[in-house]
Amino acid sequence: MRKIGLIGGMSFESSAIYYRMVNEAVRERLGGLHSAEVLLHSVDFQSIVDLQKAGRWADAAERLTDVALGLEAAGADCVLICTNTMHLIADAVQAAVNIPLINIIDETAVRLKAAGSRRPLLLATRYTMEHGFYAERMLSHGIDIMVPDAEGRALTHNIIFDELCAGKVLRSSRRALIDLIDKAEAHGADSVILGCTEICLTLDPRALPLPGFDSTAIHAEAAVEFALKSPALAWAA
Ligand code: GLU
Repeated sequence: MRKIGLIGGMSFESSAIYYRMVNEAVRERLGGLHSAEVLLHSVDFQSIVDLQKAGRWADAAERLTDVALGLEAAGADCVLICTNTMHLIADAVQAAVNIPLINIIDETAVRLKAAGSRRPLLLATRYTMEHGFYAERMLSHGIDIMVPDAEGRALTHNIIFDELCAGKVLRSSRRALIDLIDKAEAHGADSVILGCTEICLTLDPRALPLPGFDSTAIHAEAAVEFALKSPALAWAA
């Protein structure tokens, strides 16, 4: 089994979910008491949030590149950035390391396509919904995402940072997110992407008005797929 390198802490609430998911998936696949080989570098999230707020993406890229290089040096066979938002700088991180970076946007797109979804609503941070990197990468896979209106985007962003990343799960916020999904369905959305790795703390992708795609679960499953494939096949994939 190959070692999964996780760049986590963004937030630690979602990294804990990744850790559980990769281990459960390996136990399910291999049986017995098998579990995943994992290297986790969990950063101090406040320092990353400060860079995000200041728009200092190049500095954030440098910071996460250092972490990725550390994981590679420690023996990781692949690396995952355990947040959608920080995929804004994923190409820079991939360029600096010699191991594959498993991209959360690509993996989510593959699942959407396989399910026949082409017009998903994206629920994510303001950066992910507004910066363009996510929509462009999805479009390169033939997927045309929809985002909530300005008020809905602000609401979603605040639920993520003020509540979910802080460990608070409120019923009123869950209701508000479901209202956004209902609204998007009326405007032609055919599915919904939980495009922030904490949203699964409050929304169950199997119990939504539209088919749900949980980026955390999809990313964790892709890591396990990589870890359990033979090296030759994994590099070819
Ligand atoms: N985990 C969240 C995401 O998937 C937000 C945290 C962050 O800003 O990195 O985008």
